[in-house]
Amino acid sequence: MNSATMAQPLPHRLIATTIPTTIAAMPTRPSPLKAQRAAATQADPRWASVLARSAAADGSFWFSVQTTGVYCRPSCAARTPRPENVQFHASCDEAERAGFRPCQRCKPRQSSALAHHTALVADACRYLDDGLATGRPPTLEALAQRLGLSASHLHRIFKQATGLTPRAYAAARRAARLRDALSHPASGSVTDAIYGAGYQSSSRFYEQSAQVLGMAPSRYRAGGAAQEIRYAVGPCSLGSVLVAQSTRGICAILLGDAEGAADALVRDLQARFPRAQLQPGDAAFAALVAQVVAFVEAPGLGLALPVDVRGTAFQQRVWQALQAIPAGQTASYAEIAQRIGAPTAVRAVARACAANALAVAVPCHRVVKSDGGLSGYRWGVERKRALLQREAEGAAAATAASAVASAKKAT
Ligand SMILES: [Zn+2]
Repeated sequence: MNSATMAQPLPHRLIATTIPTTIAAMPTRPSPLKAQRAAATQADPRWASVLARSAAADGSFWFSVQTTGVYCRPSCAARTPRPENVQFHASCDEAERAGFRPCQRCKPRQSSALAHHTALVADACRYLDDGLATGRPPTLEALAQRLGLSASHLHRIFKQATGLTPRAYAAARRAARLRDALSHPASGSVTDAIYGAGYQSSSRFYEQSAQVLGMAPSRYRAGGAAQEIRYAVGPCSLGSVLVAQSTRGICAILLGDAEGAADALVRDLQARFPRAQLQPGDAAFAALVAQVVAFVEAPGLGLALPVDVRGTAFQQRVWQALQAIPAGQTASYAEIAQRIGAPTAVRAVARACAANALAVAVPCHRVVKSDGGLSGYRWGVERKRALLQREAEGAAAATAASAVASAKKAT
């Protein structure tokens, strides 16, 4: 070891020892200096970000703590320091020049907060999956503690990275495990399958089962044979549209040609729900179709009907990200992969888009190639072009009126 490296730790030690000694040597009366420092910190707008452990403020400044000799990023989960001991810094270099060491907990030097968050969220997903496999999924608090974060911080970065709350993620994973177990012929009893999927008590599961499977577990086991899906096909400006509804909500919106597409659309519906009993909708159902057609004509207005979205946890993340793209805007497959925290899963994102059963409601038409060009569309590139053009023109209100009129004519 040469003399240069040995000399390095010296500045920290100087700061850490000499200053407190000076303060301690002063007469023991209320320190106006301390009060002044505290007031200066509290008057600084950055202090609020420290108190809030704001991950959004990460990267914009760092703060050091006189008493510990370390500096942190704003979101650090360590105990909040007393304001009189805090100093703010515009960069890690600046903090280190002032004699502070990087905090071991929040690792302020690490590339970017986002990369750090993504790694934390990946760990959280792994712990949740492990917990489900052993039948004891961790609580949010336990998970946060294990990762060295506050529960609210974990909740926020998890949502940011995956689009789902940790609870929704666990529920989706549990439901997927259960669906696997129930549809696997070799699996044991329904109760075994429920416990195997990580539900702690079967009574709790039965309460939730309508939400999870859209039907009671024993019926799902029987292949969903008794589940009824009602549907109708009607015309719209893009050709024809099939609308299907389960007991939970709209479960399919499929587009086809104007002429002779009805049979193909019904076959597609049957292929997507192989064991359901398809039942043509009655007169009351026509009103529902009219609402969906009005929505297809003017997606900007939103669909005020419950939807029954069925897919894997990954597909659901992709579809949620698609729903966050406003009408009139587009995103690339790579961008969607980034937004769900899986930047390398571009092809899986494209497959999830292709598997979408809810045309327009899950706006997979708003996903384009990285160069802005139109890529494939499950329901034809021409329809995709028409939808995007219409949304870009922002002609929502005008087309809605004519859509309602044509839907009424149709039904
Ligand atoms: Zn820290």
